[in-house]
Amino acid sequence: MFCFQCEQTAKCTGCTGNMGVCGKKADTAQLQDQLTGSLIGLARSTDGNEHLISDSSTAVIIEGLFATLTNVNFDNDALLSLMARVEAEKKKMVPDCFACANPCGKNNDYDLKNLWEAHEDIRSLKSLILFGIRGVAAYAYHAAVLGYHDKAVESFFYKALIAIGMDDYGMSDLLPIVMEVGEVNLRCMALLDQANTEVFGHPQPAEVSLTVEKGPFIVVTGHDLYDLKLLLEQTEGRGINIYTHGEMLPAHAYPELKRFSHLKGNYGTAWQNQQKEFAALPAPILFTTNCLMPPKAGYADRVFTTEVVGFPGMTHIGAEKDFSPIIEKALELGGFAQDRTFPGINGGEKVMTGFARNTVMSVAGTVIDAVKAGAIRHFFLVAGCDGARPGRNYYTEFVRQTPADTVVLTLACGKYRFNDLDLGTIGGLPRLMDIGQCNDAYSAIQIAVALADAFGCGVNDLPLSMVLSWYEQKAVCILLTLLHLGIKNIRLGPTLPAFVSPNVLNFLVEKFGIAPITTPEEDLKAILG
Ligand code: SF4
Ligand code: SF4
Repeated sequence: MFCFQCEQTAKCTGCTGNMGVCGKKADTAQLQDQLTGSLIGLARSTDGNEHLISDSSTAVIIEGLFATLTNVNFDNDALLSLMARVEAEKKKMVPDCFACANPCGKNNDYDLKNLWEAHEDIRSLKSLILFGIRGVAAYAYHAAVLGYHDKAVESFFYKALIAIGMDDYGMSDLLPIVMEVGEVNLRCMALLDQANTEVFGHPQPAEVSLTVEKGPFIVVTGHDLYDLKLLLEQTEGRGINIYTHGEMLPAHAYPELKRFSHLKGNYGTAWQNQQKEFAALPAPILFTTNCLMPPKAGYADRVFTTEVVGFPGMTHIGAEKDFSPIIEKALELGGFAQDRTFPGINGGEKVMTGFARNTVMSVAGTVIDAVKAGAIRHFFLVAGCDGARPGRNYYTEFVRQTPADTVVLTLACGKYRFNDLDLGTIGGLPRLMDIGQCNDAYSAIQIAVALADAFGCGVNDLPLSMVLSWYEQKAVCILLTLLHLGIKNIRLGPTLPAFVSPNVLNFLVEKFGIAPITTPEEDLKAILG
């Protein structure tokens, strides 16, 4: 196997051998490559004719790309059935090719070995495209679940897949497509933001308890708010409480979700702690999306998956969305006999969320006055993924050391490193504000753009620094979006992506000033100095 798409890749170069660091086995990695190659074959079958694209061909492309994101689907049968769907779509799209006596081969599936063995700069740019569109597909999938689509985003998947399969493309062909991934992702994130806020309402600040009350309960992890809503509806009046985990925490801020009184609080922290946090839980867990840690035998019978998530042996809740098996399991296990509090990493017993664009912009006047009066000296966006690699406590220390006249905005699961810290307030606003999931990066961008408009300057001229942590492919497309917007001097950690070649890195450093994180002390001094 060869895979280097995420931050925890072996030796910072690539997972090879029988199993990746994430637990993905070689046969699953092989199937994921084959699935990706078949998606390229399907995209090639359009031959640039948009009228050949159908809703069902686009749906399988989005699902296929999402399924190959890190820590989503380790189930070979599920991957094989996705490949069968791709083949069926291809037959529908170009039936004559399947009866052709002299196949020209122009819509053949692509062998990803050609990509992994390409010149390092070509491999780097194509990887940025492939991993980027995997992230975009996750956002498009969530939006589609809520009935929201954007044709421009959908047709770009075909263009990008075709580009990955072009063995004669050089850097000058690929670089514009890399930047286009960022542009298209901005559209896609805007679509998801529209879907979430129209369906669930605009997030409102919410204090979230870290106490699990006695009695039966279910823990929901992943990112899919619609699954949570369906589960809340099906458990209403059943004597079962619901707790968020990981990236589900911001659900507590949405009016259409917080109105359920049995949505009680948050349990646990980020994805990489699942095996420890789920080991002795007297409750079932629902995985709605990435990021899944392979469940240990001790709790595997309590894990339920849905949507694109798959793991061999786990009970999968299908499209009919009947959550009865997980509800029965919660009642059977019974939960804790007494209320129990599970403090955050720094000992805090509650956390705040819900400072999305609508809330922050509603106090823009206060924020601007505070900046003009010198009460707020600087803003930091400390955001992105969490992960298992040592060195991520940089982010805890960075936030802890930010001066009292600065504001820290955050989003995504990396916030669990510091979201239980009490940083106090400035002018009645908390100094630490959680915007939401990694899916809410659009909200952070809108806040930055609104602040720049208010001050009559560009985002790069604001007293704002971005200190980002990455792990998987959504982070790749978000980073490309920030570059598309021309945002400079991003600090990125804990390590730089293995798939960025020295030449591509030089380009990013020279054009955008991207820099690796160093130490909290040095970086704070460089930013504020
Ligand atoms: S997803 Fe990450 S950890 Fe898993 S095999 Fe790929 S590079 Fe390795
Ligand atoms: S922020 Fe990234 S690492 Fe964390 S759960 Fe979301 S996708 Fe996974």
